[in-house]
Amino acid sequence: MTTAIFSHPDCARHEMGDWHPESPARLQAIADQLILSRIDPFLQHREAPLATRDDLARVHGSQMIANVESNIPALDDYYPIDGDTSLNAHSWQAALRAAGAAVAATDAVIKGELENAFCAVRPPGHHARPSESMGFCLFNNIAIAARRALDVHGLKRVAIIDFDVHHGNGTAEAFANEPRVMMVSFFQHPFYPYSGTQGPAGKNDVHVPLPARSDGRVIRTVFREQLLPALHAQQPEMLFISAGFDAHRDDDIGGMSLVESDYAWMTEQLMQVARQYAGGRIVSSLEGGYNLSALGRSVAAHLKALAGLAAE
Ligand SMILES: [Zn+2]
Repeated sequence: MTTAIFSHPDCARHEMGDWHPESPARLQAIADQLILSRIDPFLQHREAPLATRDDLARVHGSQMIANVESNIPALDDYYPIDGDTSLNAHSWQAALRAAGAAVAATDAVIKGELENAFCAVRPPGHHARPSESMGFCLFNNIAIAARRALDVHGLKRVAIIDFDVHHGNGTAEAFANEPRVMMVSFFQHPFYPYSGTQGPAGKNDVHVPLPARSDGRVIRTVFREQLLPALHAQQPEMLFISAGFDAHRDDDIGGMSLVESDYAWMTEQLMQVARQYAGGRIVSSLEGGYNLSALGRSVAAHLKALAGLAAE
């Protein structure tokens, strides 16, 4: 079986200013490291199509979609969405490619063309709420993909695992009343976007807030004691990963202390769950990760595990 990487040059044309950490250079760092790590030849490369309006509308309201589309600025201009999220002339196209990658990956994995897939895309998605783009995110790529699996392909149970350092508030909101979706995550707390700890989490909603400097030992305990048992209880037919790499110890935005081998370990644990209940089906989509070197190395570790290549 095959592991694919979905991407598109349009994803590198969206940018929010030279100062911004969510930069086009992130995708180049990933591509470079996959070649350096000699993983690239083992991956099938696929071009991300554009998401359709129906794909977006399964998660987002029409006003929110229009707020992105109608505010695309002229070349060399920016339109501010919030204090650290903005649009440039290419953002609409990039956002449709990012969501389209997750949708196409989902279709290909469900059809059995691929065992699993990683979407090397930007803008990221997990902060995007049904009614509002925010936090570097325009549309919620992984939520759109999960909705596709449920509402188009008719899957009955899917799981979303979010290992970004930030809480995936948008994804949690999108599936707050959806019994078919199990969402599990850990995140740094207190930290942006300051959500995930208020109110009773449902039984399909296992969010584990952790202090800054939590390391791989802490994460493995959280996986063994909380996240993996929740997944085994649900027995998902497909797994979706919000793959942020900003919990890496070299990442200056996040304050946690993971290293590449922790990403490999988490990926292998999730693959075991996927093999047990889901025929191995996993779609993973890039969220955060802002230290370019750590990002490249961590994605390489993640993909090496997904592709079943032995650790060096
Ligand atoms: Zn993040």
